[in-house]
Amino acid sequence: MSDCLFCKIIQGDIPSDKVYEDDDVFAFKDIHPKAPTHVLVIPKVHVPTLADMSDEAALGRLMHRVNHVANTVLQLEAGYRVVLNVREGGGQEVFHVHAHILGGKKLPF
Ligand code: 5GP
Ligand code: ZN
Repeated sequence: MSDCLFCKIIQGDIPSDKVYEDDDVFAFKDIHPKAPTHVLVIPKVHVPTLADMSDEAALGRLMHRVNHVANTVLQLEAGYRVVLNVREGGGQEVFHVHAHILGGKKLPF
């Protein structure tokens, strides 16, 4: 989608600190980290919110890649948190689905 910030990041039109990429997802460091490790995992296909995702396989792929990035790429052995903010009421500010991976310290809840 032409005016989407995260689509521009995927295309390389806006620079990012990439940590992982494959055919399905792109993962990069959050510009305002809320933990020592804060990475966003986004599907390459533009979908505005988690609530707009109904395809079971696509949902499974996204969570599979979140797991891969957290465990294998970032090696967050001590643990991590995965956050998906959904729509304005859920605190979503960028309307291209993204999973936050937060780790690197003990996270209060
Ligand atoms: P949301 O509140 O939509 O769940 O999270 C959006 C996230 O995107 C925020 O944590 C914010 O810091 C991050 N973000 C916004 N603009 C940029 C950007 O241009 N580059 C990067 N790397 N992260 C961004
Ligand atoms: Zn997009």
